[in-house]
Amino acid sequence: METVEVNSKNVNKIRCYDPAIEDLRSKDEGLETESSVEQSKVEDLVHEEYRRFKSNLTLLGNEDTQAASLIVNYGIMCSVEYQEKGDLQYKVWFIASNIFRPKEFTVLNRDFHVAFLKKGLRHLGESYECLDASQPWLCYWILHSLELLDEPLADDQISDVAQFLKKCQQPDGGFGGGPYQYAHLAPTEALLSFLWRMRTAEGAFKMHDGGEVDIRGAYCAASVARLTNIITKDLFDGTLEWIVSCQTYEGGFAGCPGMEAHGGYSFCGIAALTLLGHAKLCNIESLLRWTVNRQMSYEGGFQGRTNKLVDGCYSFWQGGAFPLIHMVLSMEDDQSLSAERWMFNQEALQEYILICCQHQGGGLIDKPGKQRDYYHTCYCISGLSVAQHFAGGKLSHVYVVGKSSNEIKPTHPVFNIGIEAVVHANIFAKMCKLIEKFNGIPNSPSF
Ligand SMILES: [Zn+2]
Repeated sequence: METVEVNSKNVNKIRCYDPAIEDLRSKDEGLETESSVEQSKVEDLVHEEYRRFKSNLTLLGNEDTQAASLIVNYGIMCSVEYQEKGDLQYKVWFIASNIFRPKEFTVLNRDFHVAFLKKGLRHLGESYECLDASQPWLCYWILHSLELLDEPLADDQISDVAQFLKKCQQPDGGFGGGPYQYAHLAPTEALLSFLWRMRTAEGAFKMHDGGEVDIRGAYCAASVARLTNIITKDLFDGTLEWIVSCQTYEGGFAGCPGMEAHGGYSFCGIAALTLLGHAKLCNIESLLRWTVNRQMSYEGGFQGRTNKLVDGCYSFWQGGAFPLIHMVLSMEDDQSLSAERWMFNQEALQEYILICCQHQGGGLIDKPGKQRDYYHTCYCISGLSVAQHFAGGKLSHVYVVGKSSNEIKPTHPVFNIGIEAVVHANIFAKMCKLIEKFNGIPNSPSF
C-alpha cells in the first residue's frame, strides 16, 4: 500500500505557528521605560490571541478530519493520522508547532460584521453620543465597510441614508463625508465657494469655520474638488508647497509644519499630493522608509507614530500609503520595484486583523481588549482590502490569508471608497457641469 503524505498543498503558512515569531518581540535591552512596558503588555495580549487561535485547532481539526486522537497543547504537540482512500493510504500530519495549518481556520466573520454594521444604520448606543457631530462620518464608516464586504443595501435603506445625508447639508454648500452625497444635485458653485472660505492665504485649508488648519483639510478639499470636478489652479495655489512643508525629518507627514509624523496625516499628505498631480514633490524614499518601519514585527499590524502601540485603524492609514508610494516609484521606472506585491508584509497584516482585531460579536477593534466601534471596523476592513489586493486590471494580484471567502472588494487607493462609486461620482459631476452650462452658470476652469 502506497503512503502519500499530505503536504502544504492544502495548508497555508501562518506566522504565529512559527516558534521563531517569539524572537520578534521587542527588547528593551535592560532599560525599562513606560512605553516599553506598554509595548510588552500589548505583545502579551497578542500572544494570548495567537494561543487561543492555535488551541482552536484541536476542535476544528477533529471536526474536519475525524482524527480520533488529535491533541494540541498550546501548539507544541504533534500527531499523525492515517486515512484511506481507494488503494492509497494518506498520512496526515498535524504538526501544531510547525508553521503549517489548514487554511480554512483563518476566517473573516463576515456575517457578524454585516449584522453589527446594519444595526448601526438604525440605532447607535449611548457610547456614540460623543460622535454627535460626526454622523455623516458614521454613515461613511458603515456604508464603506458594507460595500467592501459586498453586502448590498435594500432600496429603502439607501433612500433613508440619502434623506439623512440631505439633512446634513448646509445651505452654504458645506457638507460632511459620504460617497453618494452629491446625488442630490447639490449645486457645485455653492460647494466651491465653501472651499474658498475654508482656504487660508498660504493655500492650506481649515476643517470648518474657525476650525484648525491641518493636512486633513487639504486632503478633504482636494478629494471633494476632484470627485465633483471643481478643482481649479487658484483654489489650490500654494497648497502643494504647504503639504510638502508638513513632511518631517522622519519621512512621514505631520498635521502641520513642525509637528510629529503620524500615519493618518501621512496618508492625507501623499493622497492630497497625488490628487493634485504632484506626488513626486515630497521625499518619497524617506516616506517609504518611515512607513515600512511602522509595521510591527511581532503583531503584524501598524503603529501610527514612532514608538507607539499597534492599532487596527492604521492598517489603512499606513497600509493605504503603499499603493500611492508604489505608484510614484513606478513612474520613475525603477526596475527593482515589484510588479506583484506592495512593500509591506501583506500576510502579516491580514493575520493581525483576522486573529487579533475581530470582535466575537461582529465589528473590528484597535487591539485585543479594546471595544469595537464603526471607525475601527471601517479602517480595519479597508486595510484588509489593501493587504489582499495588489494593483488593479491586468496587474492585479490577490493574496488572501485563510479561507478564499475571506476575500473582500478592492478599495480606491486615493479616496478609500469603492472603485465603482468613484466612477459614478465622476459621471455625476460631469452631468452637473452640463446642467450648469445649460442653465447659464459659468463653468469653473479645470487643471
Ligand atoms: Zn485606532
